[in-house]
Amino acid sequence: MTGGDILGFQRNLTQTPVSDAEREAQLVNPGFGKVFTEHMVTVRYADSKGWYDARVEPFGPIPMSPATAVLHYAQEIFEGMKAYRTAAGITLFRPEANARRFRDSARRMAMPEIPEELFLQAIRELVEVDEKWIPGQAESSLYLRPYMIASEVFLGVRPSAEYLFGVIACPVGAYFKGGPKPIKLWISEEYTRAAPGGTGAAKCGGNYATSLVAQAEATREGCDQVVFLDTTERKYVDELGGMNIFFVYDDGTLVTPPLGTILPGITRDSIMTLAREAGHQVVERPYSVDEWRADAANGRLREVFACGTAAVVTPVGTLRSASGEFTVADGQPGEVTLKLRSQLLDIQQGRATDTHGWVHKAI
Ligand SMILES: *Cc1c(COP(=O)(O)O)cnc(C)c1O
Repeated sequence: MTGGDILGFQRNLTQTPVSDAEREAQLVNPGFGKVFTEHMVTVRYADSKGWYDARVEPFGPIPMSPATAVLHYAQEIFEGMKAYRTAAGITLFRPEANARRFRDSARRMAMPEIPEELFLQAIRELVEVDEKWIPGQAESSLYLRPYMIASEVFLGVRPSAEYLFGVIACPVGAYFKGGPKPIKLWISEEYTRAAPGGTGAAKCGGNYATSLVAQAEATREGCDQVVFLDTTERKYVDELGGMNIFFVYDDGTLVTPPLGTILPGITRDSIMTLAREAGHQVVERPYSVDEWRADAANGRLREVFACGTAAVVTPVGTLRSASGEFTVADGQPGEVTLKLRSQLLDIQQGRATDTHGWVHKAI
């Protein structure tokens, strides 16, 4: 099989399905990333064969040698996307954008690029066999986690000649119970996330590994999330550990850091589109912490929010650093933030007409 062919998936479904009653119980309050569906997808790749051995199997361990390359040199990438139960059926939001970004991440990590159609087929297979696990309540969805690891057994330092691509899924409930609550951010002055020429724009586990010490510091400081600054001047805002960030001004302008060392979020891109259509000016430019502090003080900066697939849009209230803390406006979720948030959720969950070709039927 060469990379361009669409593979047939071999289905080996579970012999011990979860009862409807047990599944319903698990769907009541699934949290995030703790409850997994009953199946998973795997596809193998070898330099000599291309993509092969596509399977849908019961969710379970992947046996591997302790000398498997990913365990030592961290050649690993992933994606995050959601399937929704809507009046129009089971849908996905901009899945081709995830497929494209997965290929971009692969290229940066010297991994093979999975064809878009194979990536999407893998998603559809899992959604189809585990369809019953997709929650139906507002703001609930099935979170899908495609990933790829270097699976060759060797310790030499070069790109692996073999890879495993997989997809797992977990039902997730409303991120905020009782409406979105503003989060408090900690500025990491010691640790950075991504340097120019590094892997900041790739969705790879390594970026998360290096962000965890800063996230732990944020938690110790009583904050919810960390915000990373640029590596050169330690002055400009990059993004959070796993979310992009927007600043809303009193004249309606939205400012967001430019692409480069940040992860090109699909939520970020969608928000920019919706905001421009609503008449907001959206400016991608370097944004400094000094500006953030000064414009919060003079009142021109009205709202700040973070965004990503998992939490969609999260209002930011307070910014804390070693030199103290300050709050933007009254610290409550802003009007523009809430409007963009509900607009995006309505499109994703099928309550509003999709005029952008973003919503795709999964099955
Ligand atoms: C995934 C991710 C985001 C958000 O991207 P979306 O496509 O909007 O989900 C932002 N920052 C980082 C570091 C990420 O890994």
